[in-house]
This record gives sequence, C-alpha cells and structure tokens, in this order.
Amino acid sequence: MTLEVPKDHPRYESLITREKIIEGMHQKIVAEAGLIAHGRGEAFDYILGESTPSFALHQEKLAVITLLLADHPIISINGNVAVLCPQEIVQLSQKVNATLEINLFYRTQEREEAIERVLKGAGAQEIYGIDPKTQESIPEISHQRRIVDSRGIALSDCVFVPLEDGDRTMALKKLGKQVVTVDLNPLSRTSLAASVSITNNIIRAVAEMVAFAEEFENLSIQELEIMKKQLNNKKLLQEALKFMSSRLEELASEKNI
Ligand code: ATP
Ligand code: MG
Repeated sequence: MTLEVPKDHPRYESLITREKIIEGMHQKIVAEAGLIAHGRGEAFDYILGESTPSFALHQEKLAVITLLLADHPIISINGNVAVLCPQEIVQLSQKVNATLEINLFYRTQEREEAIERVLKGAGAQEIYGIDPKTQESIPEISHQRRIVDSRGIALSDCVFVPLEDGDRTMALKKLGKQVVTVDLNPLSRTSLAASVSITNNIIRAVAEMVAFAEEFENLSIQELEIMKKQLNNKKLLQEALKFMSSRLEELASEKNI
C-alpha cells in the first residue's frame, strides 16, 4: 500500500478501494485509464448511496439466472475487475459454470500475465484469453481490442462483461450473444446496450451474485425460466435511473442541505 488509511476515516472503504486500484496500476494489472473509469464509477456510487438498492438485487438475480441458463457462459476479466473482486469472481465462475477469459481494452502481455497471476491466486483453474494459439478476431471491432479466445467469447452464447466499454458490448450484441454487465453508470453505452445491466458497484454486485447462484443452484431449467419471465431488464434499468433521480431530489430538499 502506498498510503496508510486510518481505520476511523469516514470514507475508509472508499480509500482502501482506491489504494487497491492504484497499487494494481503500479503492479501493471490496471491500465492508467482504469483509474479514470474507477473515478467515474465512484461518482455514480455516491448518488446510489454506496449500498445496494432493491432494484439492483433484481438485476443481479436476472443476471445469475441468465448465466445459469446459458449453454456456454464466459466471464470477461479486465484489470479493474481482477483487483476489485478476484475471489468473488472466481467463485461466481464456479457456481454458474462459466470459464474466465482475460479480455483487455488496453492489451499488453505483461498485463495479461499479471491478471492471470491474480486469478490463479484467487483459485481459478482454467483461464482463456492468454494463449496466442487460441486467439481470433471479432471483425466488428478495430485493433487489439477485437481479440477473443476461440474457445471462450468467440463460441459463447452469453458473456458477462463487467466494467466494459460500450463499443465492445455493442459488438458482442451484434454477434448475437447475450451480454450481462455491471456498470454504475446507467447511461453508459454498455448499460444501455446490454441484455442484462446491473447498476451497482462491482464489489457489492459480484458478492451478491455468488449468494444468488448458491440459492438457485438446485433449481430446474423450468423454474429458472419462470423466474426470468418476471424480471425485465429494461424496466429495471429505468428503475435505476428513477432511483438516482429521486434520491437526488430528496437530498436537495431543505432538510438535507
Ligand atoms: P461506455 O463506453 O459504455 O459508453 P465509458 O466510456 O464512460 O462508457 P468505460 O471506461 O468504457 O466507460 O467503462 C467503464 C464503466 O465502468 C464506466 O461506465 C464506469 O462508470 C463503470 N465503473 C467503474 N468502476 C466501477 C465499479 N467499481 N463498479 C461498477 N461500475 C464501475
Ligand atoms: Mg467507453
């Protein structure tokens, strides 16, 4: 850690998380732009109240059900995800039977290897996305950003892409895949384009998804399908925006300021 964070600091959790991201950048796990993305997320988390509202729990349920019902689900990992919730993301991959794939917007071999070490340290067995022999390109995206694993994202019917860029989300959708995301900004292109959007901090969201995956583990396909029908991604995303706007209205009232 580069900074000693006092335990009694009112924003202790937030400062510790920032330190993790900064340290992750020094260790070449997180890209520089990952720090900026984190700050963008933090701003929306302030509006959310830095806790999980009930609409987000519904989004998380829908996400877990979608992953459980998929034939070949994949979880895409970038530097921020690897630093913020490595254990939880590995647990989730085991619970929903999804393979992890390292898939980077700012791809370097050094970063891929650093992320691989973090995931292995968190208990991951198989990791796609790092073997040049199994890499192929998505024609919809330009440059390095289009490389995917031919055993993973290329084949999959459902990809969980937390903290993803809008371009890549839209390209995956165009390829006919279901896309599940976690993104604190309900107006990002990723949130708007995904099949299932979770408007929550990834640290809370993935831990809660693991709990739902345990709860739903023994349900039949029919039972999962019934639950899925009761949850509507578009309505839940609208709820997310309404929640944020009414919370701002309330905070702006006389009694609060
Ligand atoms: P888009 O490309 O989707 O229009 P963008 O360019 O603003 O959005 P990206 O950097 O491409 O953003 O994607 C990162 C997204 O992840 C941002 O919307 C940011 O708010 C969100 N984000 C950052 N940190 C977290 C976090 N801890 N939990 C959830 N979401 C986060
Ligand atoms: Mg973007």
